[in-house]
Amino acid sequence: MENEKKINSLDVALKQVDKAVSRLNLDPGIIAKIKSTRRELTVNFPVKMNDGSIKIFTGHRIQHNTTRGPAKGGIRYHPDVDLDEVKALAMWMTWKCAVVNIPFGGAKGGVTCDPKSMTPRELENMTRRYVYEISMMIGPDRDIPAPDVNTNPQVMAWMADTVSMLEGSSVIEVVTGKPVALGGSLGRKEATGRGVASIAREILKRLNRQAADTRVAVQGYGNVGSVAARLLYEMGCPVVAISDVSGGWYNPRGLDIPTINAFMEAHPRSLLEEVAPASADRITNDELLTSDVELLVPAALEHQLHANNATQVRASIIVEGANGPTTREADAILTDRGVIIAPDILAHAGGVVVSYLEWVQDLQRFFWEEDAVNQRLEAIMVRSMQEVWDFSQSRRVPLRMGAYMLAVHRVATALQTRGIFP
Ligand code: NAD
Repeated sequence: MENEKKINSLDVALKQVDKAVSRLNLDPGIIAKIKSTRRELTVNFPVKMNDGSIKIFTGHRIQHNTTRGPAKGGIRYHPDVDLDEVKALAMWMTWKCAVVNIPFGGAKGGVTCDPKSMTPRELENMTRRYVYEISMMIGPDRDIPAPDVNTNPQVMAWMADTVSMLEGSSVIEVVTGKPVALGGSLGRKEATGRGVASIAREILKRLNRQAADTRVAVQGYGNVGSVAARLLYEMGCPVVAISDVSGGWYNPRGLDIPTINAFMEAHPRSLLEEVAPASADRITNDELLTSDVELLVPAALEHQLHANNATQVRASIIVEGANGPTTREADAILTDRGVIIAPDILAHAGGVVVSYLEWVQDLQRFFWEEDAVNQRLEAIMVRSMQEVWDFSQSRRVPLRMGAYMLAVHRVATALQTRGIFP
């Protein structure tokens, strides 16, 4: 079962490319190049554990494509990490960077481990040795890692320090998502949710919808969902339903998002079930997805919208904050019903955009105020939305297909322009 899921990630990624290239007039050799990974490195390395034993861990770093610039992509620590999954995620990073037109290719990395059962010292030892093992591949001009599942700014700080020790000079620009004290960017934490809200607002504009008439449901109340909910609330949208792993709250007149967020910030690691918003009813996650709203923001997990619930979804607009929240079957059902879906590779690209801005600030050794970072993020999201919208309209395809086609087209054009070496 687990293997099936993993094979599917790569299979799904390749099928998406096939669908996009079938509508683009590309040389078969260019298509073959675009579908294959550029570099794959698997490392098995020892780590000294707290009890004195030595444990061997397996990690990967995959560069899918570096045609448009250095490879960019996160590193995840998880028991399920395997090569095919990392390859699929690396390919998605190529399209995500291309769709928002930032000068990066795509990469991903991971270590098969259970970080929740490891001590901070063991995590640090594992991180440093893993980075040493992949150090021939990464670098500020070659491949720039970032946080992903179970990795965070502290892990990025250890990575930057390890590369700096190997180089004999400070190379903090080798990773992004670092703590602000070590060259991280202001605004990075909120960037993905901020991008989601910008894309939602741009879609409302194009549909001539007023914020006040657009009821919103947000699934997932973590880094992405809580920020998107706050910004949509500030735009004037009634946010009527929110949920996390503990279930959700519903108030048809709109929830008091600032009060809820203040509670969540004051109680880190708390769950929504601990908040008791005024006049709100408890709902399940399934009920949230099919609640009576105009805009749905899935910002929790993959595969939440599937063949069994897609027909009951009442929202006419979906902005995907999570990675792959809509299965292919659900996508077809919703698209047939005329639901507008802002695809994940566009809607949640705010994080990688501010990673790009962090890298730029590190390279120039000159750091911007948070407002300047947010303005640049906003400009890139608005431009990207316009480009995906126009491209999709001109090709008469839904936004997801338009985003993939535009991304593949950009990578193919760069490849043809560079030419094939030698
Ligand atoms: P997070 O861990 O901060 O929050 C996840 C939220 O989802 C939590 O509130 C959790 O309780 C909730 N959740 C978990 N299981 C759930 C379930 N079954 N039903 C409803 N809610 C559930 O994570 P995040 O950083 O906000 O990321 C959310 C999604 O966005 C993920 O798919 C992630 O891959 C994607 N994403 C995040 C970023 C980023 O910069 N953080 C960037 C791109 C994509």
